[in-house]
Amino acid sequence: MERVFNFSAGPAIMPVPVLKIIQKDLLSYQGSGMSVMELSHRSSLFQSIINDAESLLRELMEIPSNYKVLFLQGGASLQFTMVPLNLGKTKVAYVDTGSWSKKAIEEAQKVEGLTVDVIASSKENHYTKNPIIPLVDKEYDYLHITTNNTIEGTVFLNIPTNINVPVVADMSSNILSSSYNVSDFGLIYAGAQKNIGPSGLTVVIIREDLMGQKNQLPAMLDYKVQADNGSMYNTPPTFAIYAAKLMFEWVKELGGVAEIEKINRTKAELLYEAIENSALYRSPVAAESRSLTNIPFMTGKEELDKLFIIQAESKGFMNLKGHRSVGGMRASLYNAFPLEGVKALVAFMKEFEANVGG
Ligand code: PLP
Repeated sequence: MERVFNFSAGPAIMPVPVLKIIQKDLLSYQGSGMSVMELSHRSSLFQSIINDAESLLRELMEIPSNYKVLFLQGGASLQFTMVPLNLGKTKVAYVDTGSWSKKAIEEAQKVEGLTVDVIASSKENHYTKNPIIPLVDKEYDYLHITTNNTIEGTVFLNIPTNINVPVVADMSSNILSSSYNVSDFGLIYAGAQKNIGPSGLTVVIIREDLMGQKNQLPAMLDYKVQADNGSMYNTPPTFAIYAAKLMFEWVKELGGVAEIEKINRTKAELLYEAIENSALYRSPVAAESRSLTNIPFMTGKEELDKLFIIQAESKGFMNLKGHRSVGGMRASLYNAFPLEGVKALVAFMKEFEANVGG
């Protein structure tokens, strides 16, 4: 079966070389006679998988030694709760940049005794341009931002320096696709299913001093318990951690995050240029806030968008339908999405435009 160009926002495309290794390990992992999915999480074979996954991620993101790396479950959505539960004492600050940050805010508001201040929002411009983050002083326990807004297609590539509290970042849709300085953050979390591997795994990178600030948290929701047990307080998502390890190896082989960011820039620029140079398509996002990984675009006519998506699918460009809150199309160009796929999409866009007389 031919592979298609899968523009899904997540779960997302994985590199063929990684899938081939997985295919091989599904029947017998390293001559053990057991599938990688059948390994006990207490076995030495799995212990070396999780150790390797952690050290590769540390190397790729240059994670300082005073940060813990946790491999958890519950998706990025559970972090919307775990973050305020563990780090929120009296007052916390949030930046509202769209659907996912709104969900993070709503969950923080459910934590008893916590005041949640939304200190900046791009709601007024329909989340098409990121807000300027004002000075944040010590009265807050942390500031929460969403580095990349998967649905709206906006990104914070630079973290403001005027924040005097730990910055917590939902990096679900651009972890490992752009370089960030981990020490600019108190905590980073990401659902795996975009740049890290299959769904079912959530990566959390947390500065050690931010753990254990609260007693009596439910064990599974307590970062300290998870860290003290090496992410194995209960059965971890073994298969997803194994696949993540392979993805980290793949990123390393490509030259690391800085190299992959260059490729991602080339891919994104190609698509943005095609949009800018056309009379048919437009991007709803302000130029300075444009994401490298999630690129919404539209014709402005619902029927034409629908036709575009149908014709695109018939040519093997899958999952280009935009999120219902934005409409139009959205191309998600995560690390594993190939440059030739973007070139092919751009050629199709031109052909479609010529056919509909745009
Ligand atoms: N945050 C962002 C930025 C996302 O893109 C997503 C999912 O697409 C989520 C959170 C929710 O992630 P999960 O489905 O892992 O809970």
